[in-house]
Amino acid sequence: MQRIQLERLLTYAQCPLRYWWRYRAHIEAPVITEELPRLALQQGLRHYYEGRAASLVDGCLAAWQAWADDWRCPPETPALIARYVRMRAQRHDEDLPVDELREAWRDVTIPSASDYDLPAALDDTVLAALRYVGPECDGQREVLLDWPFQISLTAGITVEGLASLVVLERDQVTVAEFHGYSPYCPSELFLSRHLSIVALANAESTGWGGEWYVVYRHMLTGFSASVFTTGDADRLLPVISATLRGIECGVFLPRMAATDRECLRCPYRELCTTPDGLDALDDLDATLVAASEEKKGS
Ligand code: SF4
Repeated sequence: MQRIQLERLLTYAQCPLRYWWRYRAHIEAPVITEELPRLALQQGLRHYYEGRAASLVDGCLAAWQAWADDWRCPPETPALIARYVRMRAQRHDEDLPVDELREAWRDVTIPSASDYDLPAALDDTVLAALRYVGPECDGQREVLLDWPFQISLTAGITVEGLASLVVLERDQVTVAEFHGYSPYCPSELFLSRHLSIVALANAESTGWGGEWYVVYRHMLTGFSASVFTTGDADRLLPVISATLRGIECGVFLPRMAATDRECLRCPYRELCTTPDGLDALDDLDATLVAASEEKKGS
């Protein structure tokens, strides 16, 4: 039985080289400005569904205000962020305090892979939070985040990971959600949706039963797709098997999925660009890397 982590699968689908940096070279991605909307949304969801915020917008606001403290911004910064978020939510977009925020954040040294700055990251966070239409909090249902699951596929492959969110009714899962945050990568969207179908197909056979369904939600655009039980996991096996083979063999499929726009927001961008500004992929000999991996394992 082969076991594969969903997170690894999605990273590989996003960009095989990103997979290599993260899981073969064991380099944790640095936090860059481009990552802040994702982090704020994840923290916001936690605040909201754990009952500490009245809405996802409020949850995200709390995350940004906490960062302002961590970054030792001037004391008026949290109120300034709240003003910005309130004005944006009420669509008073003309006099947003962007310059004041830029001034408050002038000593913050979080790197950016492009010229994406903190006001832009705050703006993307608020827009995504406003678009969010997730499960309502109510007393009859429990909403849990990062719910562990395991899926056995017929080809002897087990996919395991964390569903971003599940809804429980009387201890029964009725909805499982997978969230996507990648701004541009269409293949991630594709693969996540299909994995959702696999998850659902297998839910039938593992006895979870009932009427539950899976949602793939793209947090940045508000796009979501719901999938009801179909039981047709087999047609997805070629996609997963090809990805697994690529991972196992150390095969680089340069830019199979990543586009230039994806690179612009990638935390590993520095590693992919040589000092002369050329693309490191051009210098990379995949067969050498595969050989050194084999040597390590022997
Ligand atoms: S910079 Fe581009 S090629 Fe390099 S890991 Fe990131 S997405 Fe992949």
